[in-house]
Amino acid sequence: MPVAHILGFPRIGARRELKTAVEAHWKGAQSQAELQDVARELRQRHWALQKQAGLDYVTVGDFAYYDHLHNVTALVSAAPKRFGLQGSVDLAGYFAMARGTPQQPALAMKKWFDTNYHYLVPEVGADSRFKLNRDWLLPEIREAQALGHAVKVVLPGPLTWLWLSAAEPGFDKLKLLGLLLNVYWVLLGELKALGVEWVQIDEPILSLDLPAEWLDAYPGVYSELASAGPKILLATYFGDVGQHAGWLKQLPVAGLHLDLVRAPHQLGSFLESWPEDKVLSLGLIDGRNLWRADLAKALADVHQAQVALGERLWISASCSLLHVPHDLALESKLDPRVKSWMAFANQKLDELALLKRALNDGEAAVWQELQASAQAIEDRRGAPSTRRAEVRARVAALQAADADRGTPFAQRIVEQQALLKLPRLPTTTIGSFPQTAEIRAARAAHKAGKLSDADYVKAMQAEIRLAVNKQEELGIDVLVHGEAERNDMVEYFGEQMDGYAFTRNGWVQSYGSRCVKPPVIYGDVSRPRAMTVEWSRYAQSLTAKPMKGMLSGPITMLFWSFVRDDLPRKDVALQLALALRDEVCDLEAAGIKVIQIDEPAIREGLPLKKAEWPVYLDWAVRAFRITASGVRPDTQIHTHMCYSEFNDILPSIAAMDADVITIETSRARMKLLDAFAEFKYPNDIGPGLYDIHSPRVPAPGEMKTLLDRALAVVPAERLWVNPDCGLKTRAWPETEAALRVMVATAREARAGLN
Ligand code: GLN
Ligand code: ZN
Repeated sequence: MPVAHILGFPRIGARRELKTAVEAHWKGAQSQAELQDVARELRQRHWALQKQAGLDYVTVGDFAYYDHLHNVTALVSAAPKRFGLQGSVDLAGYFAMARGTPQQPALAMKKWFDTNYHYLVPEVGADSRFKLNRDWLLPEIREAQALGHAVKVVLPGPLTWLWLSAAEPGFDKLKLLGLLLNVYWVLLGELKALGVEWVQIDEPILSLDLPAEWLDAYPGVYSELASAGPKILLATYFGDVGQHAGWLKQLPVAGLHLDLVRAPHQLGSFLESWPEDKVLSLGLIDGRNLWRADLAKALADVHQAQVALGERLWISASCSLLHVPHDLALESKLDPRVKSWMAFANQKLDELALLKRALNDGEAAVWQELQASAQAIEDRRGAPSTRRAEVRARVAALQAADADRGTPFAQRIVEQQALLKLPRLPTTTIGSFPQTAEIRAARAAHKAGKLSDADYVKAMQAEIRLAVNKQEELGIDVLVHGEAERNDMVEYFGEQMDGYAFTRNGWVQSYGSRCVKPPVIYGDVSRPRAMTVEWSRYAQSLTAKPMKGMLSGPITMLFWSFVRDDLPRKDVALQLALALRDEVCDLEAAGIKVIQIDEPAIREGLPLKKAEWPVYLDWAVRAFRITASGVRPDTQIHTHMCYSEFNDILPSIAAMDADVITIETSRARMKLLDAFAEFKYPNDIGPGLYDIHSPRVPAPGEMKTLLDRALAVVPAERLWVNPDCGLKTRAWPETEAALRVMVATAREARAGLN
């Protein structure tokens, strides 16, 4: 009888209840107790779903008010000194670190491996000390136990937490391992005292290229933890850990989880002489994508494991279901055919339970359900919308020249300057302006059919006018229209392309209370008609200053969508690149002189193992260049990147050959600039001068310091002045205040140059 379990469940609620509650609490509209009630209700609902589906355990510890890695920071009392949180971290302190305070910028945020989920980076140093804070995790366990659930606790592992933390350069974080381990040890002892049988400890960093010292730490850490209490299921995911099979088998833990969706081939090296006393948990259902599992194939794959493992076989999804939406049943508007190909978190629980029954009672016992699953797989394979001859032909006909501007940057920038006549240190913003309640209301009314198309256009034009007026008043040099008409930078484009499907409730958490509703690429992609031209033309008609056209790039469109798993991603990227290239050319033809192609997701596609980087970067850069290369030399192409470190891919970023890149730097305190200085980035660059993720308005001195640092490493004639990212999550008052400081900072610096 195999055990069926999941590594984690989405926490935001099928209707984003957690987002609503957390944001109400932040605004002061909801007390902490009210927020905690919502959280408790969500946890209970999600555990009940796991139990009802027929899983053997409910997973406890995957809930987080903001981020699960940040939960560990609170649990081990690792608040950095700068927040002045003495000792234990309470919920207010937890949020203060996550969001920043008037005195302190927030903890940095980084992408969780190759997902679009962001974790808060713990800050550690020589004086870090850890202490178990029993207000975290433990109450949730008691809560689940009181409901009569069979509890499996989940906890990010100490090595993963430490690896992902930030420290002063040169500080050896492993020095803190002993201290941290003590806290984990005490915690596991308390879990045992609570009667917890299994604790799943997540060590996803095992899928990375880890230095030997870190790998060498594993046996000691896990011997110690295994002696502390409950049985440990060491969970790996997002990649292949086959190269570690030898020592992983020897670890004194009670079980190991493998991601067999990402790395199916690793199973063999683990099955071979798998220790008699350990369970092996196989991640068979894709926790990263929303397609139905091919259950017949999964059963065939698992057969040998079942023979070898018997009772010691566990089955699961590849990773936490955090990365897929909650419930397909809520999707009443989805094309029924496309819908029949999908499974969200709830449906994946059923798939797991079905697999378990098939393994347990034999396939004949669940023949009908298996048949239905097989039919859906078959239907998708044969659907004509997934293969369109004209799209495939255009991709096949691509030539090297299609990925080249044909004129070098040095010459392009001269022509652009003659056309645009910008001052030195030109100011601009990243695209979006505050998405006010009025904008959202107008969009909702339009969607609900309560606002006519014409009135909606008028309402959005009024917003554009407002944004243009404010920018002119502020004295910004290259304007944006503000993106009021866009619900989301990817969905907006996907909705206008063929090959895309949309969910109504397919939300997944991106960071904190922010959720995204990734579109679904199910078929070949093309652009039936222009998507942004009318808005940009209108915006440009309102001003004599250059108006940036604003597009989402092919790589971002790809990685912020749920992508079909029946065509290589690089081919999907080329289809997107061609569709967007047409849009770039249409914008140019409409008189738009500056066009920004956002690629915040470029780093997201990087394989976790460095050896696989060059292949990815090659096709990603090519896709961007195909998008950007259909225009004249005097049309200025911008790109924008954020949320990430780019130091290690600078040559590829340069190879994209955008005329200007605006890039997030302020959260990482401009460290990126040093890398740009060293690498000698050839084209124009606008390092973000302030962090838009926080409502805090930076003091003038702060922006000046950052700009001076930038001027020290980037020639003044190559430097732009801009915020870190789009401003849509902000309100107008703080936006105007911050931009006023920014423009003043640029003017002062300009005066200094002359
Ligand atoms: N142009 C987009 C905006 O300003 C860019 C968003 C992003 O980088 N994530 O909203
Ligand atoms: Zn950004």
